[in-house]
Parts: sequence; structure tokens; C-alpha cells
Amino acid sequence: GPLPRDARIYVAGDRGLVGGAIRRRLEADGFTNLITRRSAELDLRDQAAVRTFFREERPEYVFLAAAKVGGILANSTYPAQFLYDNLMIATNVIHAAHESGVRKLLNLGSSCIYPRMAPQPLKEEYLLTGPLEETNRAYAVAKIAAIELCDHYRAQYGADFISGMPTNLYGPGDNFDLKGSHVLPALMRKMVEAQEAGAAQVEVWGSGTPLREFLYVEDLAEACLYLMEQVSEPGPINIGTGEDLTIRELAELIADVVGFEGDLVFDASKPDGTPRKLMDVSKLTGLGWSARTGLREGIERTFAWFMQERAAGN
Ligand code: GDP
Repeated sequence: GPLPRDARIYVAGDRGLVGGAIRRRLEADGFTNLITRRSAELDLRDQAAVRTFFREERPEYVFLAAAKVGGILANSTYPAQFLYDNLMIATNVIHAAHESGVRKLLNLGSSCIYPRMAPQPLKEEYLLTGPLEETNRAYAVAKIAAIELCDHYRAQYGADFISGMPTNLYGPGDNFDLKGSHVLPALMRKMVEAQEAGAAQVEVWGSGTPLREFLYVEDLAEACLYLMEQVSEPGPINIGTGEDLTIRELAELIADVVGFEGDLVFDASKPDGTPRKLMDVSKLTGLGWSARTGLREGIERTFAWFMQERAAGN
């Protein structure tokens, strides 16, 4: 049922895309007791620091949105860091939440947990049925371990820990740094800069044929609160729109919103990644939640935010 507005709620990772959107959603809904920490204040990879933090702050509810994340290039270049950081964060937070008696925890993962060649759309039951996509295997293994932790702490200790698996996300607060970013902010930035420089073309990595699904991060934040308030069950719960498009179509849509009229040049030396990852969202829609923001509308809002940030010199 509904969380008390004065519940002590820890949003782990509130400086990131997902945690930031969750924190803003909770603030807008009138929650008065939010707990947050910058990573410089609390390193979630440090077990002793995490244990002390939970003992002192005693959060009742936890949104676990802290993670080391990145696009296809960052994931394939730094797999050791993606594995270590994400395993440590999940292990420390989930265990400390159990030890300190947290009432409920929502663990957030990613659609990359599913096997590369799984049938599409991806159903929750396809988890651990086949080999993973190489370019983000390290990240995926850490995220699978986090689901397992939640499920085993539920089974063995009765902890109410659940796992939501969002599809590819975008929106205000995204990372627009081209070396670490995902495709949507990367292309938006490249097109804005090409226009400003009067350049006639923009480079798109890979073949343009991979299919991806995109969820607006404010819709995700709403889904997270919904899950926290309404759902208690083991296993991953997919969070997406149920619709996808090719990277080429995405690039054309962003160009239209941004007003970029030059050419798209596809760079085949860069990886395509998995050919398709479309979520089957029938479980979540069956539970009563579905996404509301269309892709064009979400891209328009993200573009407005990005231009504002640029104007402010951020
Ligand atoms: P993925 O969903 O884990 O593969 O993550 P990304 O969002 O990084 O990449 C999605 C797809 O977009 C891949 O096929 C990329 O090759 C392609 N892509 C095209 N241009 C870019 C770009 O400038 N940056 C990124 N990150 N991906 C791009």
C-alpha cells in the first residue's frame, strides 16, 4: 500500500539519471524524509562504511539506483570496473538493508541481463537461459547477482526485496559525455554541436540496424514508486514501453527534434552490440502500470533540458 509521507527513504544514486528522477518524484509527491549521500560522502563499495551508514540512518525503504553505468564503449573498455563496482554496491547495500531491518528495497537492473539470442520480446522467465551479449557481460552478471541476492534474501530471511529491470533509459540528468554516454544523449549532443559548427554530417556508431527500446526516466521513476507501494514478488520485473525502433530511425527522430538537416554517416568500426532487446512488459501492465510518455515527447523534453544546461554552462 501507499508509503507514509514521513517514511525514512534512502535513494541510493540520487546524483544519477535514475536516482535523480526518483528523488524528484518523491519530493513532488510530498515525501519529507529522504536520505541521500554523494559518492564522495559514502562509497557504496566500502562494506564498513555502508554498514555504519545503515546503522546510523535506519532507512525503512531503499531505492537501489546507484551503479556504475555507461554506453557500449565504456562497458566493453572497462569490464573489470563495471563488474567490481556493481557487485560491491549490490552486495553491500542489500546485505546492510537486511541487517538493519529495512522494510522494503527496490533493486534496479537492466534489460542486458537477458541472453543475447533470447526470443523477443524478452520475458522475465528468459533469465539465465543462454549466453549474454559480450559488450556488457560484466555489467549484466553483476545485475543478475543483485537479483539473486534479493530473491535469496527473500527466500531465506523473508526480506521484502524486489527487482525492477528498466529498458534503455533517457531524459533530464542523463550523461552527455560522448565517451561514456548511451546512444540517445550521444546523438543529441553530436547533432547540436554539428549544427553550431555548420558541419554537414554526424557520425553514428555501428550499422544503424540494431533495435532498441527507450523509456523516459520520469516514467521509470513513477513505475519505481508503483512497484515499491504495490508489488512484492521475487524475480525481475521488466519496465519498458513494449515498443522499439532501429538506431537509424532513432537518429532520424532526434535530428528532426533538434533541427539537424545534415547526413548520418555510419561507422562500421564501432560495435552494434546486441541485435535487439525489446522488453515484454505484460507482467507490469498486468500489475497495473504502463508508460505514458511517447518517444518524441520525451526527446523534446530531454532536448529542452540539455539546451538549458548548455546555456547555464554545465
Ligand atoms: P547498448 O544498448 O548497451 O548497446 O548501449 P548504447 O546506448 O551505448 O548503444 C546502443 C546502440 O547505438 C549500439 O548499436 C551503438 O553502436 C549505437 N550507437 C550509434 N551511435 C552511438 C553513439 O554515438 N554512442 C553510443 N553509445 N552508441 C551509439
